[in-house]
Amino acid sequence: MFENDSDFFFLEKPPVNLEDAPPHVEPLESSNTDVKVRISGRHIHISQKDLELLYGPGYNLTKYRDLAQPGQYAAKETLTVVGPKGVIEGIRILGPIRDKTQVEISGTDGYRLGMEPPVRDSGNIAGTPGIVLVGPYGAVTLKEGVILAATHIHMSPDDAAKLKLKNGDRVQVLVDGERDIIFTEVLVRVDRSFITEMHVDTDEANAAVIEDGDYVTIIGKILVS
Ligand SMILES: [Zn+2]
Repeated sequence: MFENDSDFFFLEKPPVNLEDAPPHVEPLESSNTDVKVRISGRHIHISQKDLELLYGPGYNLTKYRDLAQPGQYAAKETLTVVGPKGVIEGIRILGPIRDKTQVEISGTDGYRLGMEPPVRDSGNIAGTPGIVLVGPYGAVTLKEGVILAATHIHMSPDDAAKLKLKNGDRVQVLVDGERDIIFTEVLVRVDRSFITEMHVDTDEANAAVIEDGDYVTIIGKILVS
């Protein structure tokens, strides 16, 4: 299991916007709509500028281990993040280097840190809360960049073609397990560098009783009116 905080139940409002009307869903024609799930722990994507402020001038990331997505890796380097009400140490940096530093945490982590970051697609950080990052060389105060990552599926172009899905589509996904849960709006990201897998954070995995490597089923594509 993953970390839990009993006080989390007393958040004043859920971080997700529930006001939208139920979307119209078009079932997929393919008979094989199962997708493997990977659980993303809290992590940081970092810019070269911030890395050097935190680890020293001229510093480069060192690979700890490859991730399933080709070219992506967990770095040996970790950082401490300092929020308004709490601190989390040892958050791993994921490589390669990005244009902008981004901190992806769970809602439970947000509670520990004393913040309620919004659910965002990766890279879309305008207007999100900032945080203080601390490394062995220095500290950086981010003005923005803390998000709960929107549930998403990385998909190879081959699989996307089979399922008649394209980059930017949103789908509904059924977790048919110990606790049945439907993810009602999952972003599909298609790229030649991707292998097909759905990424959820630790709170989502715990809520849906998902283990890393489990399979879930795409129910259908959300039709935009
Ligand atoms: Zn991902």
